[in-house]
Amino acid sequence: MSGDHEHPANHAHVAPPELPDSVDVYDTTLRDGSQQEGLSLTVDDKLRVAEQLDHLGVQYIEGGWPGANPKDAEFFRRAAAGDLHLHHATLVAFGSTRKAGGRAETDPVMADMLAAGTDVVCLVAKSAAWHVTETLRTSLSEALDMVADSVGYLVAQGKRVFLDAEHFFDGYGDDQAFSRDVLRAAAGAGAEVLVLCDTNGGSLPFEVERVVGEIRELFPSTGIGCHFHNDSGCAVANSLMAVRMGATQVQGCINGYGERTGNADLTSAIPDLSLKMGVATIDRERLPLLTSVSHHIAEVVNIAPDPHQPFVGASAFAHKAGLHTSAIARSRDAYEHVDPDSIGNGTRFVVSEMAGRSTIALKAEQMGLALDGPALTTVVDQLKELEHRGYHFEVADGSLELLMRAATGWKQAFFGLESHRVITELREDGNFVTEATVKVLVGDNRVIATAEGNGPVNALDAAMRQAIGGVYPKLSLVHLTDYKVRVLDTSRGTAAVTRVLIDSTDGDRTWTTIGVSENVIEASWSALADSLVFGLLHVGEPEQNPAL
Ligand SMILES: [Zn+2]
Repeated sequence: MSGDHEHPANHAHVAPPELPDSVDVYDTTLRDGSQQEGLSLTVDDKLRVAEQLDHLGVQYIEGGWPGANPKDAEFFRRAAAGDLHLHHATLVAFGSTRKAGGRAETDPVMADMLAAGTDVVCLVAKSAAWHVTETLRTSLSEALDMVADSVGYLVAQGKRVFLDAEHFFDGYGDDQAFSRDVLRAAAGAGAEVLVLCDTNGGSLPFEVERVVGEIRELFPSTGIGCHFHNDSGCAVANSLMAVRMGATQVQGCINGYGERTGNADLTSAIPDLSLKMGVATIDRERLPLLTSVSHHIAEVVNIAPDPHQPFVGASAFAHKAGLHTSAIARSRDAYEHVDPDSIGNGTRFVVSEMAGRSTIALKAEQMGLALDGPALTTVVDQLKELEHRGYHFEVADGSLELLMRAATGWKQAFFGLESHRVITELREDGNFVTEATVKVLVGDNRVIATAEGNGPVNALDAAMRQAIGGVYPKLSLVHLTDYKVRVLDTSRGTAAVTRVLIDSTDGDRTWTTIGVSENVIEASWSALADSLVFGLLHVGEPEQNPAL
């Protein structure tokens, strides 16, 4: 239905250009990714995820849609107020073009985007003619004016503007002239990157090859980006193809989060581009952080990591005993498509559970601990045993450090627990009240303290502070910021166990501690005790290696 005659090559194959030396990685976990069913992020969670993405070294972090969502507006407020320190990434605010018939200058969505205070904004615009007439219910020419006005206005306000061309691939198949005109309107008004979005996620790599090739030829001096959803199972493949055809910005989500079947999984796209295509993405020395960042973010968003996830999954380089194991021992690339160390994962022999001794030694070194041979052996053995019981130290550095210290003979002397008791009572007025009593030894003193709380962890924490806060006044600087519980599956044939993770901060440093037990109170107590001990050990110390 297009009356258009100017397209360069409707049928001819557009040859791939030289591969770009590098592409920018644009993570939209905090906006598009949080559309995933069951994924709900508090503002604190969003700040934690952004920190991790920055730690990984992505170029852009889309923080949210401040005009559509008060939580996202608060995220940008807190980020600007100093609650988020980015070392590598540029924060991006997302929003839509001005309303039909309105003016950019007075559009509230535009105002909210500007108020977010970011240098870069990403504007979404309808680029499928059908969507303009059917869902926007306006004319095609007004839709183009909306794009040009909005981009031009934001550029005039000093913003760098990326344009998300929504439904681009579907629209281009339907009415090429209009879809191209949208990109022209944006580029003409100063957009820096034209992002071709496969909003319904149904495109296939050979279609992407043709469309991106054609668009890249039409816009040789404007950046081309890509944004794929995974409905046809091709989001990563499509992203790689788009880069092969000249795209220099790859949008996606960590762990492939996103609505329906998710967005392009950056934990695959990044190593595919960097290791296999020779296209630089994040800094090469940060690539080994990929697995730990993937798992850390999975914990923050409280979705169990998928063991079968390519590159970063726990099973990605797992080999069962037998033929493989001996072959792998001889030559690691016999059954591994990349070196697992390159993305921070590790070869795992499922039967003999070989834990990485050198990784642990390195980790201890990072924490400023010197582990000798026997201590290292103790830690390796304990980790094996504890991970088998459901511990997961990758995300619980606080507890890991205490475990390593203990292996050197260190014993915490801040307090000794004699006993604790937690009572939860449903009172006549319908309120649940939890009360905890702790009996602890602090030096030679035996202290008994009782406190109420809104739950067992809160009550135990309050009672402990009453009991030992007088002796350790710096404990008042330590706050628990998050508490997560996961019931681990019972596939091992034992009873279900509960894993508790507690995040704590002293204002500068944050740390995570872990407890695992069949009893949720016991698991909570052990995570809490670790948190307090870690806090007492470190409060006031500057954090080591803040940038890495
Ligand atoms: Zn999307």
